[in-house]
Amino acid sequence: MDIFNSKMNEVGRSVEPSKTLAVAALAKRLKAEGKDIISLTAGEPDFKTPAHVARAGIDAINEGATRYTAAAGEPELRAAIAKVYSERWHMELKGENVCVSSGAKPLLYYLMSIFLEKDDEVLFPVPYWVSYEAMVNMCNGKAVPVQTTLENGHKLTANALDQACSPKSKILLLNNPTNPTGAVYDSNELLAIAEVARENDLIIISDEIYEDLVYGGKHQSLYNLTPWLPERTIAVSGVSKSFAMTGWRIGYTIAAAEVIKTLASYQSQALSSPCQISQRAALAGMTGDREAIDSMRDAFGERLTYCQERMSRLGLPFVEPRGAFYIFFDTSEICAKRGWADGQEFCTHLLEEKGVALVPGDAFGMPSWARISFAASQEDLANAFDRLEDFLG
Ligand code: PMP
Ligand code: GLU
Repeated sequence: MDIFNSKMNEVGRSVEPSKTLAVAALAKRLKAEGKDIISLTAGEPDFKTPAHVARAGIDAINEGATRYTAAAGEPELRAAIAKVYSERWHMELKGENVCVSSGAKPLLYYLMSIFLEKDDEVLFPVPYWVSYEAMVNMCNGKAVPVQTTLENGHKLTANALDQACSPKSKILLLNNPTNPTGAVYDSNELLAIAEVARENDLIIISDEIYEDLVYGGKHQSLYNLTPWLPERTIAVSGVSKSFAMTGWRIGYTIAAAEVIKTLASYQSQALSSPCQISQRAALAGMTGDREAIDSMRDAFGERLTYCQERMSRLGLPFVEPRGAFYIFFDTSEICAKRGWADGQEFCTHLLEEKGVALVPGDAFGMPSWARISFAASQEDLANAFDRLEDFLG
């Protein structure tokens, strides 16, 4: 063991487990030990993968579609994704503009890996999804978290972005709708941010994994906002959230053909190809009836209305979510009253005393906050809020 430790590089020595996944695993373990735990931790839909999508996966196994595929994904799937986004974004996209991978996560990592030189800066708003900072560090870049305010709905402003830019800034990483706040940017906000990105010559990586989960409005992508954006924007999305397919591990990137070509080469060396069975299932999702997405979104929307009502009764400051399936709230006042240091301690007490598992805000760069995932059954949500009320009361 000493040998390995002494020879491990800085990345190996410093990398930490993803906190969202670690807390979810802890909740699962406690439950398996027989404890009465309600887990509102990892963001994954509690619905089953739609039947026609799952069936395509089963058919793929039966038909022997259990092989390596082209590195960037099967041509049919790339073409189907290109068709969906050509229609959605009113622009011409082809299979050569699409790279499929084993989830959105590896694609974000590969992108950091192919663009970053040592100490190149990647800017992203705080609070941010847990893996952004880690991925930048793992690729020897420099993470530049840009603070937002509750008053501004925790959204990055063009002005804050401009002030944070330096000659070393290379990438803006924007997640819309946002994990962990549920914030959704409108066209004007996006355009102002994009203008600043252009002035500072930044590449924009637009993480739109929650694009189908917007409540009471429509998602605006950064990719098709203006004719010049595709020249500097790379969109990342996938089927994990929209189709309740987190475990199938299929995500995709849409970008200029040169970027996709490099990603495909990188992936051919690092992964070979995404799972063929999962690709066939994703193809059924992309080409089939999208009704299941709408009904899941409506169900999440109803849960959000319920959670918001319960949240406002608790009196903890939070941003009103407009998308995704998270609520991010401030624990500072209650921590000050009880002598707890931060959201981590709040979450530990809540778990130990009431059996409710949440993700502490330090995972998202705001240690005095905490995140609730409402991708859980109505019954679990009702019970969890009863327990929270008790806990705070
Ligand atoms: N981006 C964000 C903001 C996420 O919350 C997640 C979590 N799933 C991902 C990317 C990664 O998605 P996938 O499961 O497709 O890898
Ligand atoms: N993205 C989800 C979350 O934030 C899943 C866990 C992960 O991939 O980090 O909970």
